[in-house]
Amino acid sequence: MGNNQLKSFIRDVPDFPKKGIVFKDITPLLKDPRAFREAVDAFTEHYRRQAVSLVVAAEARGFILGPTVAYNLGAGFVPVRKPGKLPYLRKKATYQTEYSTDSLEIHEDAVRPGDRVLLLDDVLATGGTMAACCKLIESMGGQVVGCAFLVELTFLGGRKPLGGHDVFSLVQY
Ligand code: AMP
Repeated sequence: MGNNQLKSFIRDVPDFPKKGIVFKDITPLLKDPRAFREAVDAFTEHYRRQAVSLVVAAEARGFILGPTVAYNLGAGFVPVRKPGKLPYLRKKATYQTEYSTDSLEIHEDAVRPGDRVLLLDDVLATGGTMAACCKLIESMGGQVVGCAFLVELTFLGGRKPLGGHDVFSLVQY
């Protein structure tokens, strides 16, 4: 199964969660054993030789792929969550997405100087979410090895706010 076949497992949902947004629903891909394995293997293969020490991903959909890829890479997993969810001392970043303004938090001791961090999410839209995550990681002394996505909406130019970071996506629109 190639990346073009993966595309057939991604469902367009018009006007969700707001009018004018075409939501890329990855649940059909997650449900299909071959497609799910293909996607996880593609991320693992791409980063296998990069000595990733931590995979960091934001809720909610980042929590599905993030730990799976971390397990395969022999890396740890660090959650990034909406405000008020993490129990311990936190660092916060505020950012814009394709359809909202939002904040995310990470535990302040979750990333250490020298950590090699892979950031993972389902969709790259405007890049605001991922840029905020990169800033959090770098403010803690971590090195961003890559920003990886199942889906990249190229027409929204999400690579730009990610500056010089390595960006890898499995499926592009
Ligand atoms: P952005 O910060 O604009 O790149 O938005 C990325 C975040 O919002 C990701 O966590 C996605 O899960 C979600 N998102 C934004 N646009 C879409 C879309 N069209 N379909 C599905 N998820 C999206």
